[in-house]
Amino acid sequence: MPPVVYNEKCSGCGKCEEICPGDLMEVNPATQKAFCRSARDCWDCMACVKECPKGALETRIPYQLGYYPARLIPKKKDKMIEWTCIDINGKIEKFNVRTHNK
Ligand code: SF4
Ligand code: SF4
Repeated sequence: MPPVVYNEKCSGCGKCEEICPGDLMEVNPATQKAFCRSARDCWDCMACVKECPKGALETRIPYQLGYYPARLIPKKKDKMIEWTCIDINGKIEKFNVRTHNK
């Protein structure tokens, strides 16, 4: 499933376009908003979601794991990513994952 794009937050910076390993994200030149040009080819690696500086992208969690009310939101910090996990009942958990060894 491709990421959800919140158009009101997207600045058209193109960072998602640069980072997607499948070359799937694109910024529409007319609207300056990002979109995924081949939804069926997205494998949910979340590289674009992590890279977006505006928080304009969000992963859709498959229904087998929590259906749409559930959310998983990364926030890049210095040498780590803070993940916010919201389950279908609204319970929030945060955890940090180091992205550098030193
Ligand atoms: S990285 Fe975020 S703000 Fe930049 S074009 Fe992509 S969705 Fe829009
Ligand atoms: S989740 Fe991964 S494969 Fe899918 S559009 Fe984003 S960067 Fe590309």
